[in-house]
Amino acid sequence: MAMVETDLQGVVEDAAAHLYVWALKDIPQDLRDALAEALTRETSVPGRRVLETIVRNVAVADEEKNLVCQDTGIAVYTCRVGEGFPLHPAGIYEALKTGTARATLEHPLRSNAVHTITRENTGPNIGHRLPIVHWEFIADWDGLDVKCVPKGSGSENMSFLKMCVPADGVKGIKQFVLESIVGAGGKPCPPGIVGVGIGGSADYAMYLAKEAIARPIGTRNFDPIVARLEDELYQLLNETGIGPMGLGGDVTVLQCHIEHADTHMTLNPVAVNYQCWAARRASVHVSADGTVDFDREA
Ligand code: SF4
Repeated sequence: MAMVETDLQGVVEDAAAHLYVWALKDIPQDLRDALAEALTRETSVPGRRVLETIVRNVAVADEEKNLVCQDTGIAVYTCRVGEGFPLHPAGIYEALKTGTARATLEHPLRSNAVHTITRENTGPNIGHRLPIVHWEFIADWDGLDVKCVPKGSGSENMSFLKMCVPADGVKGIKQFVLESIVGAGGKPCPPGIVGVGIGGSADYAMYLAKEAIARPIGTRNFDPIVARLEDELYQLLNETGIGPMGLGGDVTVLQCHIEHADTHMTLNPVAVNYQCWAARRASVHVSADGTVDFDREA
């Protein structure tokens, strides 16, 4: 009997093309719930008006099957690749790149990618090292998970890193997070998710901050010490009074998530990455046989 080979690279490409557009149009339920809950907490008139507009904006995007925001961002993917997945990461990267370009051309979406010095457009949301792909490799598994997080520039521009010293301790971490968000004010389209990365090294702390913003809203770090810091910062950030879109109010952030890594005894890096209210994310699980299972809430 003739064997029919699955075009796994084509499957991943199709999945990426769908993921990017889906993430941009249909926000996860946990974000919808967080925005609705924010509206019940907000007492300032301008703050309520902003939140009502955001909720209405989401409803219009649903009705018209359109984007929740015009800034289609840059596509950032996180891949969890099982050691037995029968497509090499080079093939996965190629599929993600082609899928991103196809989504941009077929929808069509705004093409945001430019050369970082000449500022000339480099293609349909692709270019040198674009899209951005992060990798994790998983033992004893033959599947592939891909999460797509389109990141708008308004919130990505509000990214901050400080190499605190160990003597600064947790106080230094809290102070830097608060200073960063107060300094950002309304620029990153609040209320959103404050992602904090602590430990590791300078580059890894920022990676962890990005990982933190891509978690379902309100999930807590597995380490109870870190989870307590998430609770504390969430409270403190909402006491700043910045409010929705920086117009003043009770709801400055929907959540604060922290990811951490152990670090060198002389290091205490802290990275802050802001995710605007349009916290778009979408995931797909691809099996070794080419079966795909899209997952809105991962
Ligand atoms: S920061 Fe977010 S909500 Fe604001 S314009 Fe950019 S993508 Fe849209």
